Amino acid sequence: MYKKLQCISPGKHRLLFVLMALTTVGCSDSPGSISASSNHETGTENSELPLIRDTSIWPTLDLSAIKDPMLEQKVDELLSEMTLEQKVAQMIQPEIRDVTVEDMRRYGFGSYLNGGGAFPQNNKHATPQDWIKLAEDMYQASVDDSLDGSSIPAIWGTDAVHGHNNVIGATLFPHNIGLGAANNSELVEAIAEATAREVMATGIDWVFAPTVAVVRDDRWGRTYEGYSEDPEIVFEYSEAVVRGLQGAMDDDFLGEKRVISTVKHFVGDGGTDGGIDQGNNLANEQDLFNIHAQGYVGGLSAGAQTVMASFNSWQGDKLHGHRYLLTDVLKTKMGFDGFVVGDWLGHGQVPGCNNYSCSKAVNAGLDVYMASSDAWKPLMENTIAQVNNGEIAMSRIDDAVRRILRVKLRSGIFDKPSPANRPLSGKLEIIGAPEHRALARQAVRESLVLLKNKNSILPLNPNQHVLVAGDAADNIGKQSGGWTITWQGTGNTNSDFPGGSSIYAGFKQAVNNAGGSIELAVDGEYERKPDVAIVVFGENPYAEGHGDIKSVEYQPGNKTDLAIMKKLTSQGIPVVSVFVSGRPMWLNGELNASDAFVAAWLPGSEGVGVSDVLFAKADGEINHDFKGRLSFSWPAYPDQSVVNRHDPNYMPLLPYGFGLRYGDENVLPDNLDESLAEAVDTEQTELFLFRKSVQAPYRAMVSSLNRTVEVTNNVVELDTIRVRTLDKDVQEDARQLTFKGNGRATFSLTSTSPQDFSPYLEQQSVLTILMRLEKAPTGSVILSMDCGDDCSGELDITDQLTSQTLNSWQALNIDLSCLGSAGVDLTSVLTPFRLSSEHELVLSFSEISIMQSAATGSCGS
Ligand code: BGC
Ligand code: BGC
Repeated sequence: MYKKLQCISPGKHRLLFVLMALTTVGCSDSPGSISASSNHETGTENSELPLIRDTSIWPTLDLSAIKDPMLEQKVDELLSEMTLEQKVAQMIQPEIRDVTVEDMRRYGFGSYLNGGGAFPQNNKHATPQDWIKLAEDMYQASVDDSLDGSSIPAIWGTDAVHGHNNVIGATLFPHNIGLGAANNSELVEAIAEATAREVMATGIDWVFAPTVAVVRDDRWGRTYEGYSEDPEIVFEYSEAVVRGLQGAMDDDFLGEKRVISTVKHFVGDGGTDGGIDQGNNLANEQDLFNIHAQGYVGGLSAGAQTVMASFNSWQGDKLHGHRYLLTDVLKTKMGFDGFVVGDWLGHGQVPGCNNYSCSKAVNAGLDVYMASSDAWKPLMENTIAQVNNGEIAMSRIDDAVRRILRVKLRSGIFDKPSPANRPLSGKLEIIGAPEHRALARQAVRESLVLLKNKNSILPLNPNQHVLVAGDAADNIGKQSGGWTITWQGTGNTNSDFPGGSSIYAGFKQAVNNAGGSIELAVDGEYERKPDVAIVVFGENPYAEGHGDIKSVEYQPGNKTDLAIMKKLTSQGIPVVSVFVSGRPMWLNGELNASDAFVAAWLPGSEGVGVSDVLFAKADGEINHDFKGRLSFSWPAYPDQSVVNRHDPNYMPLLPYGFGLRYGDENVLPDNLDESLAEAVDTEQTELFLFRKSVQAPYRAMVSSLNRTVEVTNNVVELDTIRVRTLDKDVQEDARQLTFKGNGRATFSLTSTSPQDFSPYLEQQSVLTILMRLEKAPTGSVILSMDCGDDCSGELDITDQLTSQTLNSWQALNIDLSCLGSAGVDLTSVLTPFRLSSEHELVLSFSEISIMQSAATGSCGS
């Protein structure tokens, strides 16, 4: 089926490929193929280098079951009555933080979304009724054609990617990586169905799932959103999840208990070079199809109505502007007749485009711009202008809107009652329903993979004294990972998960019921010597962008969890490890220090499922056996981030498909090579306080006259100051501070344990702020550091700020020595950054750090 490709002169793609993948490229004179050696270090898997596109690689899907000529007629009728402005508004998707109900009434957008961590009224604890109210108000505004907008109902899209994860109290299922290990497509279909119900209960119509990324480099921060490193499970699951969300392609299709699904991110997101988020996929076209596109074959065959374009590039070209893949392949060859939605301002990354204007994306085949932040209005106006000046053909607009209307008609949105009046709407008992939690608990059980079980230490007898250690033990936020209430999954506490259970809570129940005793001590410092210790540890929550890492080593240079394990084993206490993570990681030390080791991935809100498997019944009988098997190979080296089933020279520590059952013989020894662990860095020359996000151990605090709160939401507003997230290069990598000028206001980065900054002083470092001044200060602005009670130093930096060019990103440097001279004890810094003013000032920053600098800073005025 693979057609030989013609060798043509080196073009842009080939050059890029050579530069970026450093592979050897050869080209014979006669027509034939270009070959490149496979290079697994860089995450490429090319054996052929196509310079010509070949649509014969892609199948034509049979979607006849959902074709309906009557519906097409209706689409045409609707379309014929619409103005250009109304059509373009269908193609614009604003975000709830930046659009009002009145905007919806005026313009009649086709859809809108809530991004990660966006809630009705910016309230994290918004109730299901608040969500329904917003859905109802937006719907009513969208069908109100008293102004210029159309009367076509708008649809609301949300990232319900492991349950309805935006809403407090919803059931949170294990992230996809755990579901992949469970390898049970009936289970994932049932999970998708339960998710659809919880979403419907809040009046929302459309879900941005499933993610069908086939993840090839585990350094990628979205690894856990993928089911597997191999297309097999992804293909099957995509079909099952789409069916679970939308219903089968029969009478149930998009029925009243169903939502519209999105297969994302088209295409190749899991195969970027170096595992870099939004990076470049270098695969040849055959591999792009065989490896990265299988989820589209599965999901679209099951009738998925929308596809989200990916942030990544393919062979150097951004998908949002990729006419060949979006139009020639997806729509024309594969026959997809739903619509393509962009990803969060992804169009703005296409060369020649920006967030506010991008005819190239629409011309390439994008049907809906995800026009978050302030982009929606200029983008809408520019698109209209581009149609009027011929840059975008009217036929392309008609095609896009026809697709949107087709999906809306198929979903029954014109006939359904308004969001507040739909059958499942407002049925609060659906959100976090016991049967959904039971399903999640089953998924947790089935997702656990047993990597080591020396002397059959597992299952544990519940009738003994058990110590539970590790900071993931009693932390539902940590066990749930990113895309959990907030975007990055940070800033949550157990009280944000009513009805859920931590992993420890499950252990406690099992032990107490059997008459044993249990002690929780995060640091392992027990009161009574235990018979066995369970250490529950792992990665802190992260999502896209923030989760990319340099190597797959766990805790490089700082093995605090290993230290807990070693301390316990040195006292003769057997250690059972439960590893909470969004990817397989190199942790030979921790494996060696463990008698048993369980990969638990990111189980979600039903931590109790872990105890179901780890503990035997009181009479010693197995309660539930392990079922999970690795859907990602486990690395043998810290730099083995690309290790995938079917690789040539495949040498993982544990292969794809590995997973012990009770009774199986243990295979991992206690003396795995630990020598490749990264050395402890004693000569640090830079310290980031803020880079994309606030860096641990610091926390961002904001205070007005009489109130101080931590900044954990996208927008925090007090009487005198407002802080909000802002996109500089990628999503939410900057913060904007608005000092309102009506009283004292302060923003600070602070910690509870003092840090010694004196080495930085010796290196002649500066405190540097990468910032953009948006409104110059109208009075004095103070920068300060503090080192505890009555220990602080401050500098007046008004002049430095005022001398900056407005609206341009630049660095502001302050010599650390100045802060020393101003009275800060630099050996014991608690708050390394505090900015205060009583006057008006607006500035944004994207990085705050202490670093060596050739350029000297200044001391302020
Ligand atoms: C962020 C975006 C991100 C989005 C995903 C938002 O809160 O601002 O940048 O892409 O969540 O939903
Ligand atoms: C993510 C998508 C998500 C979208 C909307 C983006 O940043 O890449 O997966 O659906 O935001 O929240």
